[in-house]
Amino acid sequence: MTTGTRDREVVAAAVIRDGRLLLAQRTRPPELAGLWELPGGKVEPGETPADAVHRELLEELGVEVAVGERVGADVPLRDGLVLRAYRAELLRGTPRALDHAALCWVDARELHEIALVDNDRDWLPDLVRLLGE
Ligand code: C5P
Repeated sequence: MTTGTRDREVVAAAVIRDGRLLLAQRTRPPELAGLWELPGGKVEPGETPADAVHRELLEELGVEVAVGERVGADVPLRDGLVLRAYRAELLRGTPRALDHAALCWVDARELHEIALVDNDRDWLPDLVRLLGE
């Protein structure tokens, strides 16, 4: 078997435009449906994390992005998965909710008020810092 010893990664993207962060509202599983997250998903075998950010945002939002630096710390998930956030800059297209219930753009104040998935809450200070730049 080729089970590696490295944690499998889930990537999430911080897309910021005009002082606002893009959030996506989950449809599943039932306990997360309705909560908001940074869009992303699992890194597939053979992909780099940057490849995965690029693919997930094309699949989920219909946009092409340039993947930038890491944001915040690793968030351990269940089953040996680790969640990592990256900056992503929109290159082409307007984000659409192809796999989410809805999308929204939030400023720092709205980011504190919206119902984020728990895992992504760890990044709040980092995201607020980016929104202030
Ligand atoms: O979106 P998907 O279900 O493929 O994500 C895989 C795992 O990563 C799920 O457990 C999901 O809750 C988690 N995740 C997260 N925050 C994100 C993206 C994914 O906690 N921004």
